[in-house]
Amino acid sequence: TSFRVRSRWPVMVRNLRGRVGSKVEAVVMGEAVASEDEDLILPNHEFAQHAHVPSFEKYLEMYKRSIEDPAGFWSDMASEFYWKEKWGPHVYSENLDITKGNINIEWFKGGITNICYNCLDKNIESGHGEKIALHWEGNEPGLDDSLTYNQLLDRVCQLANYLKENGVKKGDAVIIYLPMLMELPIAMLACARIGAVHSVVFAGFSAESLEQRIIDCKPKLVLTCNAVKRGKKVINLKDIVDAALLGSSQNGVSVGVCLTYANELAMKKEDTKWQKERDVWWQDVVPKHATKCDVEWVDAEDPLFLLYTSGSTGKPKGVLHTTGGYMIYTAATFKYAFDYKPSDVYWCTADCGWITGHSYVSYGPLLNGATVVLYEGVPNYPDPGRCWDIVDKYKVTIFYTAPTLVRSLMRDGNEYVTRYSRKSLRVLGSVGEPINPSAWRWFYNVVGDSRCPISDTWWQTETGGFMITPLPGAWPQKPGSATFPFFGVQPVIVDEKGKELEGECSGYLCVKNSWPGAFRTLYGDHERYETTYFSAFPGYYFSGDGCSRDKDGYHWLTGRVDDVINVSGHRIGTAEVESALVLHPQCAEAAVVGVEHEIKGQSIYAFVTPVEGVEYSEDFRKSLVLSVRTQIGAFAAPDKIHWAPGLPKTRSGKIMRRILRKIASRQLDELGDTSTLADPQVVDQLIDLADT
Ligand code: ATP
Ligand code: MG
Repeated sequence: TSFRVRSRWPVMVRNLRGRVGSKVEAVVMGEAVASEDEDLILPNHEFAQHAHVPSFEKYLEMYKRSIEDPAGFWSDMASEFYWKEKWGPHVYSENLDITKGNINIEWFKGGITNICYNCLDKNIESGHGEKIALHWEGNEPGLDDSLTYNQLLDRVCQLANYLKENGVKKGDAVIIYLPMLMELPIAMLACARIGAVHSVVFAGFSAESLEQRIIDCKPKLVLTCNAVKRGKKVINLKDIVDAALLGSSQNGVSVGVCLTYANELAMKKEDTKWQKERDVWWQDVVPKHATKCDVEWVDAEDPLFLLYTSGSTGKPKGVLHTTGGYMIYTAATFKYAFDYKPSDVYWCTADCGWITGHSYVSYGPLLNGATVVLYEGVPNYPDPGRCWDIVDKYKVTIFYTAPTLVRSLMRDGNEYVTRYSRKSLRVLGSVGEPINPSAWRWFYNVVGDSRCPISDTWWQTETGGFMITPLPGAWPQKPGSATFPFFGVQPVIVDEKGKELEGECSGYLCVKNSWPGAFRTLYGDHERYETTYFSAFPGYYFSGDGCSRDKDGYHWLTGRVDDVINVSGHRIGTAEVESALVLHPQCAEAAVVGVEHEIKGQSIYAFVTPVEGVEYSEDFRKSLVLSVRTQIGAFAAPDKIHWAPGLPKTRSGKIMRRILRKIASRQLDELGDTSTLADPQVVDQLIDLADT
């Protein structure tokens, strides 16, 4: 059956030409019709028939409306939720042109709602109170728990009442420094319920990073737990919080209460350091509160949360999201990009400390009334089969993860995957970095048994939700391409002068006009917001990423533009060279950077992690270089291969190329902010190996 779809595809696109508005067509389809490309993975007919968006034609129809009538399109989406009062006469207003005054974006202004109410009460009222909201899987196999929507609401209300009793009011900030316990989404929802602004700090950050964030947002309370087990390691979180709170109070920001969940499987209460006047055990106080808590109704433009970016490119930015637009956008993107159905069981491996955990562990899925799996531990504990063990245990149907995890599981071998059934899987997803085509194929063929479409979702902390993403079943996939824009999103690729490029092209990825999930400011620094995102190309939101569009209109993210390498006038994206290297069967992971070169301007310098057991040899080096030469061309061949037992990554698993650049050019005293680095030792290791 899939062959029928295949032969229909180019015809279908050709037929559509001329019928869609030319502006829409230019964005969506580039200049040419789709070809009979070897690399097209066609949608399964069965799947497509039952998908929310069953065809490209249907997508185009919806997309066209979303661009031509954003107010109507998003109002319809919004009316699926509860609003105490409807928004004012303007669904949105925006100024995205810095030359025309301050940048400001508003959606559903004047509308009164509450996102916690829409996640919980609304689903309960429509009869889903006894449905499982959260399945919790502990670090140790065999340890688990679950909450129905009714139970989750009770827990959220108890904590909300406790927060209120402690003086937390609408607009107050609360810092959440918790591992992946159920208390983490509970805490987020409790804040949202009473209109408090949560700022989740990933519970892997150091005391200094936490301290900086506490000083920045001056929370009324800090919510944490005493310790957590990740794999075999016990991490004493309370010690980190103590150090951060000491530091912040020395800087004039003191926090009255540190509510601490006793995670006794990781550490006994009596072993936890305690400050009587400030610290309170969660279990001693929260369960005593009532399980009913009135909702604080807020304006759509009231702040919902503050979250810092991953810090891949420098000092993290405090991104602020508001309530109404974010709510509608995360709900809609979740539903369409994963083709979510009420019978699905959904698992996203991201931590709630990142935007992915905000939009697609907590809010997006719960707004849709989904059953969500939360996993406390690490993906390769006790062995690299753990993810598939969890998939089988809960009959997970939608599995969403990051390329770094896909690459590492791929390196561990197929055996760990194939010993599990994975029959329940229906849709796979990827986020965080460009996914190399070879990793994509492994994910598709081995994990998904060539059955499950992959949603390679391009988006950012700043965008709130998916921007460019496949809609499963609606069109053919190309391994490594994020494909087409989501409804309402107008991606444009511009050249260095800000001129929009048409058709097949490559350049800077910007977005024209706003979308409901867009961030509204950088906390406390609106000027930095304007200069970072809106001044490079006036009139557009600039993502900082590079992108190319192929002849069929598919989008390919090429990495950060700061990382683009210019060799003898050829502009080369890091993603492309890295993909060519990773295709080598003995290369597990690769990161490339540019270094100054007298003649070529820049030359390519590659850091390569070999697969387990492979030793460095001159032959291996040569075959890596050859791999790039044959796949891309001689101009992209790396001049230097630097052996890398590990790569410096952010705590969310992304490669930090800016540090690699400094190592490559031996500017070792200019490594910059390394506070978001997951394992700082890797850097020393690389420096030691620099001249071998
Ligand atoms: P910082 O902004 O502090 O440097 P960061 O950009 O890594 O950190 P995030 O907002 O978590 O912080 O990540 C967004 C970035 O991740 C995007 O700009 C892009 O570079 C990359 N990214 C996310 N998803 C994809 C994807 N599907 N394909 C390619 N790149 C992606
Ligand atoms: Mg970023």
